[in-house]
Amino acid sequence: MPKTTSETIHEFTAHVKQTNPNEPEFLQAVKEVTEVVFPFIQDKPEYEKSSVLKRLTVPDRVIIFAVPWVDDDGTVHVNKGYRVQFNSALGPYKGGLRFHSSVNLSILKFLSFEQIFKNALTGLPLGGAKGGSDFNPSGKSDAEVMRFCQSFMSELYRHIGHEKDIPAGDIGVGSREIGYLFGQYKRLQNEFNGVITGKGLDWGGSELRPEATGYGLIYFVAEMLQKKEESLDDKRVLISGSGNVAQYAIEKALELGARVLSASDSSGYIICEDGLSSKHLAALMKLKNEKRGRISELADEFDDITYTDNASVWSATIEADIALPCATQNELDEDQAKSLVKNGLKLLAEGANMPCTQEAIHIFRKDKILFGPGKAANAGGVAVSGLEMSQNAYNQSWGKEKVDEQLKKIMKNIHEQCYRQGKDGNHTDYIKGANIAAFKKVAGAMLAQGIV
Ligand code: NDP
Repeated sequence: MPKTTSETIHEFTAHVKQTNPNEPEFLQAVKEVTEVVFPFIQDKPEYEKSSVLKRLTVPDRVIIFAVPWVDDDGTVHVNKGYRVQFNSALGPYKGGLRFHSSVNLSILKFLSFEQIFKNALTGLPLGGAKGGSDFNPSGKSDAEVMRFCQSFMSELYRHIGHEKDIPAGDIGVGSREIGYLFGQYKRLQNEFNGVITGKGLDWGGSELRPEATGYGLIYFVAEMLQKKEESLDDKRVLISGSGNVAQYAIEKALELGARVLSASDSSGYIICEDGLSSKHLAALMKLKNEKRGRISELADEFDDITYTDNASVWSATIEADIALPCATQNELDEDQAKSLVKNGLKLLAEGANMPCTQEAIHIFRKDKILFGPGKAANAGGVAVSGLEMSQNAYNQSWGKEKVDEQLKKIMKNIHEQCYRQGKDGNHTDYIKGANIAAFKKVAGAMLAQGIV
């Protein structure tokens, strides 16, 4: 294998592909970083000499385990559990757990790889990790979800700790699952500490953690707009998803005067031409967080909402200034990107992780659409998780205003780093900015810590 110093980007990509077969999502995430970072390090021998980029693409540790559990009828099931501890150059491993039938090693490696850079941008001392299972909580009873979480934690607890690896939620892991996971950890370890973030407010959680990713996304968008001397006021905004990130992105966008036109779930999407109101949002939150129902039910409840079944919101032909994909990876493809641009799109920011395919990103970059990549734009969640860890360490509980102020400050700072590194004449390439700013931090720490 050639040394990194003499490698071309093509050889490097081929090497990563060959050593990670059948992992398309992971390769996609590496490619996005490599396209920007490879040219950046070409004239910097210190990075090349110690193969920093190559070492960054190999996880420190991957743990895969069986998760047996019993359903309410007494039938025994088994799922796969995972924890990918990718890089700890900047601090203990940190990243969410995802419970969804699509979960596999490729998806978790992409998510944990992204998490390294995202955590670096927050400025908090956190490494990158991600984990989860191909278990789908949807349609399961509370008792089944509890038994699954207990079985999952019966293995995971050996590998985590408040100074080692601190998981959190993600798709399919909300406050209910965090509660069951934490309860089992506490029982097995006989320790009450901040080993998981996203905890309930009465037992070690932070104010604004549920809101953090969605609010943070909108704070980031507001910063992007401000550089163009614009604001969210009266902007037409398309949002996908109706889970944690989407709900609070809608809430903050409405507060800042935007007209939010849509929301979706994996069955279909809703459109409200006049813009969703706080009344619509309250109904959506109740539907999703309490009844665990389908988004189509909102169209039954409100005359001014239409529902389209079995389709993506990105296929809707509707004029919009801003798009915020907040559902899942690769939800927005090339044709949909073209259609958004044709319908007046000016800015896109990723609430979800890697929601745009590479072909879609090329369209947005070609047309100079302002593009906020997920590793920067959706970092508000992990930022407030970091604040939850600080509160736990000092036995403190901060008020909402203090947490919100810190969140705003962190998102402003992330934006500033991306802007500085990505500004090119009148346009800002936030993908370039985010990747270089984050890489410099992680690579600097790796160099300082030697070949470990
Ligand atoms: P939730 O589980 O709360 O919500 C996910 C939403 O996306 C649901 O509306 C879900 O619909 C929809 N969805 C999931 N899979 C698909 C699919 N294949 N096609 C269409 N829609 C789909 O998750 P979150 O809101 O927490 O996470 C959303 C995204 O944001 C993920 O990419 C996550 O990694 C990312 N993220 C989350 C953070 C957080 O703090 N929660 C932090 C940073 C990033 P349905 O209910 O039908 O499944």
